[in-house]
Amino acid sequence: MVKKQFVFNNSPWHNISAGPSLHPIMDIPSKILETAVDEIATLPGVGKRSALRYALHLLDCSDSDFAAFIGALARLKSDTHYCSRCHCISDTPLCPVCSNPKRNQKIICVVENIQEVMAIENTGRYNGLYHVLGGVISPLDGIGIGDLTIGQLVSRVADEQTEEVILALPTTMEGDTTNIYIDRQLKQFPGLKVTTIARGIAIGDNLEYADEITLGRSIVNRVPFGAI
Ligand SMILES: [Zn+2]
Repeated sequence: MVKKQFVFNNSPWHNISAGPSLHPIMDIPSKILETAVDEIATLPGVGKRSALRYALHLLDCSDSDFAAFIGALARLKSDTHYCSRCHCISDTPLCPVCSNPKRNQKIICVVENIQEVMAIENTGRYNGLYHVLGGVISPLDGIGIGDLTIGQLVSRVADEQTEEVILALPTTMEGDTTNIYIDRQLKQFPGLKVTTIARGIAIGDNLEYADEITLGRSIVNRVPFGAI
Protein backbone atom coordinates (compact mmCIF):
# COMPACT_ATOMS: atom_id res chain seq x y z
CA MET A 1 0.00 0.00 0.00
CA VAL A 2 1.31 3.39 -0.92
CA LYS A 3 1.90 5.50 2.13
CA LYS A 4 -0.45 8.41 2.19
CA GLN A 5 1.67 11.49 1.93
CA PHE A 6 0.23 14.69 3.19
CA VAL A 7 2.03 17.41 1.28
CA PHE A 8 2.13 20.66 3.13
CA ASN A 9 5.37 22.11 1.78
CA ASN A 10 3.45 24.17 -0.75
CA SER A 11 0.56 25.01 1.50
CA PRO A 12 0.14 28.55 2.80
CA TRP A 13 0.52 27.30 6.38
CA HIS A 14 3.70 25.29 5.80
CA ASN A 15 5.84 27.93 7.45
CA ILE A 16 3.96 27.88 10.71
CA SER A 17 4.92 24.22 11.20
CA ALA A 18 8.58 24.90 10.57
CA GLY A 19 9.45 25.95 14.09
CA PRO A 20 9.78 29.24 15.93
CA SER A 21 8.71 32.24 13.92
CA LEU A 22 8.19 35.89 14.59
CA HIS A 23 4.80 35.71 12.89
CA PRO A 24 1.69 34.83 14.90
CA ILE A 25 -0.07 31.56 14.03
CA MET A 26 -2.40 32.11 11.08
CA ASP A 27 -5.91 30.81 10.55
CA ILE A 28 -5.99 27.11 9.78
CA PRO A 29 -7.94 26.48 6.57
CA SER A 30 -9.58 23.28 7.85
CA LYS A 31 -12.05 23.24 10.72
CA ILE A 32 -11.32 19.56 11.39
CA LEU A 33 -7.58 20.17 11.55
CA GLU A 34 -8.15 23.21 13.76
CA THR A 35 -10.25 21.15 16.17
CA ALA A 36 -7.50 18.50 16.35
CA VAL A 37 -4.90 21.23 16.97
CA ASP A 38 -7.05 22.76 19.72
CA GLU A 39 -7.37 19.37 21.43
CA ILE A 40 -3.65 18.58 21.19
CA ALA A 41 -2.85 22.05 22.53
CA THR A 42 -4.74 21.22 25.74
CA LEU A 43 -1.87 18.88 26.68
CA PRO A 44 0.52 20.32 29.28
CA GLY A 45 3.46 22.16 27.76
CA VAL A 46 2.10 22.00 24.19
CA GLY A 47 1.49 25.31 22.43
CA LYS A 48 -0.58 25.88 19.31
CA ARG A 49 2.44 25.79 17.03
CA SER A 50 3.67 22.44 18.39
CA ALA A 51 0.09 21.12 18.30
CA LEU A 52 -0.14 21.96 14.63
CA ARG A 53 3.16 20.18 13.97
CA TYR A 54 1.88 17.05 15.77
CA ALA A 55 -1.44 17.15 13.91
CA LEU A 56 0.31 17.43 10.55
CA HIS A 57 2.60 14.55 11.49
CA LEU A 58 -0.42 12.39 12.34
CA LEU A 59 -2.03 13.35 9.06
CA ASP A 60 1.15 12.30 7.29
CA CYS A 61 1.62 8.89 8.91
CA SER A 62 0.32 5.59 7.50
CA ASP A 63 -3.20 4.37 8.27
CA SER A 64 -1.81 1.55 10.45
CA ASP A 65 0.46 3.88 12.43
CA PHE A 66 -2.41 6.30 12.90
CA ALA A 67 -4.72 3.49 14.06
CA ALA A 68 -2.06 2.26 16.52
CA PHE A 69 -1.68 5.79 17.91
CA ILE A 70 -5.39 6.37 18.31
CA GLY A 71 -5.88 2.84 19.70
CA ALA A 72 -3.24 3.41 22.38
CA LEU A 73 -4.95 6.63 23.47
CA ALA A 74 -8.39 5.00 23.51
CA ARG A 75 -7.17 2.09 25.64
CA LEU A 76 -5.45 4.51 28.01
CA LYS A 77 -8.82 5.59 29.33
CA SER A 78 -10.85 2.40 28.96
CA ASP A 79 -8.37 -0.31 29.97
CA THR A 80 -6.36 1.17 32.84
CA HIS A 81 -7.36 1.16 36.51
CA TYR A 82 -6.17 2.58 39.76
CA CYS A 83 -4.66 -0.20 41.86
CA SER A 84 -7.17 -0.99 44.58
CA ARG A 85 -4.40 -1.07 47.17
CA CYS A 86 -1.88 1.68 46.35
CA HIS A 87 -3.87 3.74 43.76
CA CYS A 88 -1.08 3.61 41.20
CA ILE A 89 -2.15 3.30 37.56
CA SER A 90 -2.32 -0.36 36.55
CA ASP A 91 -3.66 -2.69 33.87
CA THR A 92 -4.88 -5.09 36.56
CA PRO A 93 -6.90 -4.57 39.74
CA LEU A 94 -3.69 -5.00 41.78
CA CYS A 95 -0.56 -3.40 40.37
CA PRO A 96 2.67 -5.43 39.82
CA VAL A 97 4.26 -3.97 42.98
CA CYS A 98 1.31 -4.73 45.25
CA SER A 99 0.92 -8.26 43.86
CA ASN A 100 4.62 -9.09 44.23
CA PRO A 101 5.08 -11.24 47.38
CA LYS A 102 8.81 -10.47 47.40
CA ARG A 103 8.15 -6.80 48.24
CA ASN A 104 8.37 -5.79 51.90
CA GLN A 105 4.69 -5.62 52.87
CA LYS A 106 5.40 -3.70 56.10
CA ILE A 107 6.69 -0.47 54.54
CA ILE A 108 4.58 2.04 52.59
CA CYS A 109 6.16 4.94 50.72
CA VAL A 110 3.66 7.80 50.24
CA VAL A 111 4.06 9.73 46.98
CA GLU A 112 2.13 12.37 45.08
CA ASN A 113 1.64 10.53 41.80
CA ILE A 114 2.82 7.72 39.51
CA GLN A 115 5.87 9.63 38.28
CA GLU A 116 7.39 9.44 41.77
CA VAL A 117 6.71 5.69 41.90
CA MET A 118 8.59 5.30 38.62
CA ALA A 119 11.45 7.52 39.81
CA ILE A 120 11.92 5.57 43.05
CA GLU A 121 11.58 2.22 41.27
CA ASN A 122 14.27 3.30 38.83
CA THR A 123 16.73 3.72 41.72
CA GLY A 124 16.47 -0.01 42.45
CA ARG A 125 16.99 0.82 46.14
CA TYR A 126 13.46 0.40 47.51
CA ASN A 127 11.66 -2.89 48.09
CA GLY A 128 8.54 -1.79 49.98
CA LEU A 129 5.08 -0.79 48.80
CA TYR A 130 3.68 2.57 47.69
CA HIS A 131 0.64 4.71 48.31
CA VAL A 132 -0.24 7.27 45.62
CA LEU A 133 -2.10 10.28 47.04
CA GLY A 134 -3.15 11.73 43.69
CA GLY A 135 -1.86 15.20 44.62
CA VAL A 136 -1.05 17.26 47.69
CA ILE A 137 -3.24 19.54 49.80
CA SER A 138 -3.43 22.82 47.90
CA PRO A 139 -6.38 25.12 48.69
CA LEU A 140 -5.29 27.57 45.98
CA ASP A 141 -5.67 24.82 43.38
CA GLY A 142 -8.90 23.60 44.95
CA ILE A 143 -7.33 20.33 46.15
CA GLY A 144 -8.59 19.39 49.59
CA ILE A 145 -8.14 16.41 51.88
CA GLY A 146 -11.20 14.71 50.39
CA ASP A 147 -9.61 14.76 46.92
CA LEU A 148 -6.66 12.67 48.06
CA THR A 149 -6.35 9.04 49.17
CA ILE A 150 -5.29 9.88 52.74
CA GLY A 151 -8.29 8.06 54.26
CA GLN A 152 -7.41 4.94 52.27
CA LEU A 153 -3.80 5.22 53.51
CA VAL A 154 -4.96 5.26 57.13
CA SER A 155 -7.17 2.21 56.47
CA ARG A 156 -4.25 0.40 54.87
CA VAL A 157 -1.96 1.05 57.82
CA ALA A 158 -4.64 -0.33 60.14
CA ASP A 159 -5.44 -3.38 58.00
CA GLU A 160 -1.95 -4.33 56.86
CA GLN A 161 -0.11 -3.96 60.18
CA THR A 162 2.31 -1.55 58.55
CA GLU A 163 5.51 -0.89 60.48
CA GLU A 164 6.82 2.17 58.62
CA VAL A 165 5.36 4.92 56.45
CA ILE A 166 7.87 6.91 54.40
CA LEU A 167 6.64 10.36 53.36
CA ALA A 168 8.14 11.16 49.95
CA LEU A 169 6.12 14.22 48.95
CA PRO A 170 7.42 17.35 47.19
CA THR A 171 9.57 19.73 49.24
CA THR A 172 7.04 22.52 48.80
CA MET A 173 4.73 24.28 51.25
CA GLU A 174 1.85 22.12 49.96
CA GLY A 175 3.96 18.98 50.32
CA ASP A 176 4.94 19.93 53.89
CA THR A 177 1.31 20.73 54.78
CA THR A 178 0.28 17.31 53.51
CA ASN A 179 3.13 15.62 55.41
CA ILE A 180 2.00 17.27 58.65
CA TYR A 181 -1.64 16.30 58.10
CA ILE A 182 -0.77 12.67 57.33
CA ASP A 183 1.60 12.48 60.31
CA ARG A 184 -1.23 13.66 62.59
CA GLN A 185 -3.59 11.05 61.13
CA LEU A 186 -1.03 8.32 61.73
CA LYS A 187 -0.43 9.27 65.37
CA GLN A 188 -3.26 6.83 66.27
CA PHE A 189 -0.88 3.94 65.52
CA PRO A 190 1.58 4.00 68.45
CA GLY A 191 4.10 1.48 67.10
CA LEU A 192 4.21 2.96 63.61
CA LYS A 193 7.43 4.61 62.45
CA VAL A 194 6.80 7.67 60.24
CA THR A 195 9.85 8.83 58.30
CA THR A 196 10.53 11.23 55.45
CA ILE A 197 13.06 11.00 52.65
CA ALA A 198 16.34 12.81 53.35
CA ARG A 199 16.60 16.32 51.98
CA GLY A 200 19.96 17.81 51.36
CA ILE A 201 22.77 18.59 49.00
CA ALA A 202 22.45 16.94 45.60
CA ILE A 203 25.32 14.80 44.36
CA GLY A 204 27.75 17.00 42.43
CA ASP A 205 26.51 20.22 44.05
CA ASN A 206 28.99 22.76 45.38
CA LEU A 207 28.15 23.80 48.98
CA GLU A 208 28.71 27.50 48.36
CA TYR A 209 25.89 27.49 45.78
CA ALA A 210 23.38 25.55 47.92
CA ASP A 211 20.48 27.54 49.38
CA GLU A 212 20.48 28.06 53.16
CA ILE A 213 17.43 25.87 53.86
CA THR A 214 18.86 22.91 51.98
CA LEU A 215 22.32 23.31 53.51
CA GLY A 216 20.79 23.75 56.98
CA ARG A 217 18.73 20.57 56.62
CA SER A 218 21.77 18.70 55.37
CA ILE A 219 23.67 19.63 58.55
CA VAL A 220 20.78 18.82 60.90
CA ASN A 221 19.99 15.52 59.14
CA ARG A 222 23.62 14.43 58.79
CA VAL A 223 24.25 10.69 58.51
CA PRO A 224 27.16 8.45 59.52
CA PHE A 225 29.94 8.51 56.96
CA GLY A 226 29.57 5.53 54.61
CA ALA A 227 25.84 5.13 55.32
CA ILE A 228 24.85 6.27 51.84
ZN1 LIG B 1 -0.59 -1.19 43.86
